[in-house]
Amino acid sequence: MRTESGQIFRLEDYKPSAYLIPGIALDFALDADETLVTARLRVQRAENAPDDAPLELDGDALTLEALRINGADVPVSSYEATPDKLTIRKLPEEREFELTIVTRVLPSSNTTLMGLYVSSGVFCTQCEAEGFRRITYFLDRPDILSVYTVRMEADRKAAPLLLSNGNPVESGALENGRHFAVWHDPFPKPSYLFALVAGDLGVVTDSFTTASGREVSLGIYVEHGKEERAAYAMDALKRSMRWDEERFGREYDLDVFNIVAVSDFNMGAMENKGLNVFNDKYVLADAETATDVDFANIEAIIAHEYFHNWTGNRITCRDWFQLCLKEGLTVFRDHEFSADERSRAVKRIGEVRALRAHQFPEDQGPLAHPVRPRRYREINNFYTATVYEKGSEVVRMLRTILGEEAFRAGMDLYFERHDGQAVTIEDFLKAFEDASGRDLTQFALWYHQAGTPNVALSSRYDAGAKTLTVEIEQSVPPTPSESRKRLMHIPLAFGLVGPDGEDLAYESAEGAVVENGVIHLRKRRHTIVFKGVNARPVFSVNRGFSAPVTLCSEGRTADRLFLARHDSDPFSRWQALTTLFTDTLIAASKAVRGGKEPAFADDLVQLALDLAADATLEEAFRALVLTLPSEADVAREIGHDIDPDAIHTARRALLETIAQAGRETFGDLYEGLHDNAPFSPDARSAGRRALRNTLLEYLVLGEGNPQAARRQFDDADNMTERAGALTILAQYFHDTEDGRAALAAFEERYRDTPLVLDKWLQIQAMIPSEGAVSLVRSLMEHPHFSLANPNRVRALIGTFSMANQTAFHSADGEGYRLVADTVLALDGQNPQVAARLATAFRSWRSLEKGRREHARALLADMAGRENLSRDLADILERTLA
Ligand SMILES: [Zn+2]
Repeated sequence: MRTESGQIFRLEDYKPSAYLIPGIALDFALDADETLVTARLRVQRAENAPDDAPLELDGDALTLEALRINGADVPVSSYEATPDKLTIRKLPEEREFELTIVTRVLPSSNTTLMGLYVSSGVFCTQCEAEGFRRITYFLDRPDILSVYTVRMEADRKAAPLLLSNGNPVESGALENGRHFAVWHDPFPKPSYLFALVAGDLGVVTDSFTTASGREVSLGIYVEHGKEERAAYAMDALKRSMRWDEERFGREYDLDVFNIVAVSDFNMGAMENKGLNVFNDKYVLADAETATDVDFANIEAIIAHEYFHNWTGNRITCRDWFQLCLKEGLTVFRDHEFSADERSRAVKRIGEVRALRAHQFPEDQGPLAHPVRPRRYREINNFYTATVYEKGSEVVRMLRTILGEEAFRAGMDLYFERHDGQAVTIEDFLKAFEDASGRDLTQFALWYHQAGTPNVALSSRYDAGAKTLTVEIEQSVPPTPSESRKRLMHIPLAFGLVGPDGEDLAYESAEGAVVENGVIHLRKRRHTIVFKGVNARPVFSVNRGFSAPVTLCSEGRTADRLFLARHDSDPFSRWQALTTLFTDTLIAASKAVRGGKEPAFADDLVQLALDLAADATLEEAFRALVLTLPSEADVAREIGHDIDPDAIHTARRALLETIAQAGRETFGDLYEGLHDNAPFSPDARSAGRRALRNTLLEYLVLGEGNPQAARRQFDDADNMTERAGALTILAQYFHDTEDGRAALAAFEERYRDTPLVLDKWLQIQAMIPSEGAVSLVRSLMEHPHFSLANPNRVRALIGTFSMANQTAFHSADGEGYRLVADTVLALDGQNPQVAARLATAFRSWRSLEKGRREHARALLADMAGRENLSRDLADILERTLA
């Protein structure tokens, strides 16, 4: 473990390496306790590097066993080796030489899940961002591109399967029951994309023929007996491969493409060239064990990692500051894929809800950073919603500004110009400037400036002059180390909705560039006059969430009610209703805090009922309409002096009001959605189940007893309905016989299916009762729970901190203590997951005084501990700053 506080890396300090490594041959003598790694590096001194430049290679917890240059041992006086670094001062005079490094690594005692480790008896690797240096000393930076040849040998029984990047070359038997395999990857790649997997696994195979006729063998490797649960992932993979050809003209380039599912994994999945390694949660699915949300996630993540083959692997990042170059762009691509495969409107609403839930708090708190950060202490802490999700929004805006055709031309130019290179955001934007002839200087601020812009807006209609005047003003709030902000280029899609619900035409617009239904905001203030508007319109703005901003408009309730019923853009309909719900919940929680009963307007409740029953709307959309903003959503909108208990009470009161008003409607709708057809994970069926689950909660609340949920739980033939019913039973009836019996039955049924037991942990972690903290503490003692497995930790402790607002923020500070205890216990074995968990405290300053003080004291206590990992120390320091 690294214990030093760590240097700060700065974008402006980037220097090209003095040495290159165009080729590397790796040889692994695999053994769980002690693996010997022999790396033969073809090293080249860079063109303009001085002859006497030392060669400094990165390491992490390494033991050097041997060091040779061109076959001869390097004298001890010529180099210095520590676990973290290998520096060689005396090097051959010729520009190119062969460096052989032998290191010894300990896979089975590697609990960080970085570098080479063992998961359920399977050797696997994770190298992004800086895990390769835990395998051998190397120039472990993404701009060093090498052609890899990998030879592995292992016990044939324990590891009949030997996989690495690229194409298989050779394999055979060895003495003592061992065997070997050699793989070669012809595409130069950075070390973070290296991977190997060795073990005994089952496989599902298939093949794919690319547009130009190349046959690709596909394999998905899972634990024996779980092969059938990989069928959906395989289907998603083939659809992704086809889609990338059709939408972006990108073909796959190797003879094989393999995916391996492992059960101990820090992240979702990893795009290693030709050998993706996945958290098994994002591969395994069937009706019995996976919800519709799981199916959708699998489809999206399989696609995401596959799409990286071009956006990330063929064209990679020059340095880690450019992480959004591959991530933001690839998230945008996987969003587009899911939108094409499913419902575009529903997908977009889901994206925006996730952005607001995860990225907005980041932008508003102490961990705020630009999409392309300028400094970091620990790069692992920058795999954030800002880099990924906001990074994707920036690419989406680019498309909105340029239009579909020019956007595609820019992408084509980017691929053509930079294939095989490690590049920057500037290179990326330049391709779009060159392809479109447009100047993107101001737009580039989206990459460089942190914070969510505020857009304030008001409008007035002059019936005599037939003009609509819209005043718009932008501001970007200060963020850590950035107090003065520059003005952004904000594309706002809009419409003027007429009295009949259709968009009104206008003759001209002055005061800003307005084209193709988009207002381009580039100054602080714009007064835009639309002329020739024949009736008073309702101004519908930021349609489709064209820009990731916070909108403050004058807010006539009648206009919002109108847009929620009539806007032609489904996102805006949902947004109008969500704004109404949020405003009413803020007012209600204020009332609760002041000791009053919350009250809700009848027309709002009626609107929700009408939309829920509107058969012309997609079922998935209707489910979203009935889903109230979460407690965390409301807290974020309130922004300061937050009392989570008051929000909880207010939200519960609104749920019950709607439930009472809709009792009959919901009962009929719920029954009518029942379906006897065999399970199918398609979007339409998933939408129907989503609506059924949403209605069930209202039904149960309206009836005041758990019968309907109990019935659905007992009768369900799929996980979506079973888990949906269990969630309701746990939320509202956990201390009754029905609640207890259902939880016990679920545990019994899935006692041998870890991924499903995670749902059982998750559902209990969300119960908002007074005993929540002790329940979670007791579940940590359950045989299924383990701090060593990130999925278990995220299911129980992660869910508790993110989705149980009243318990995590309990007034006595015990919720904070539970999370802090877990973070500290975890830090010694898996710093990356510990640091991620600690970000739950990022909004601590926005709470009311008592809770704020509890959080501050615990954070200060944690930060003062000895031997914190660099990952955790960095998060704590920034959170407290
Ligand atoms: Zn990615």
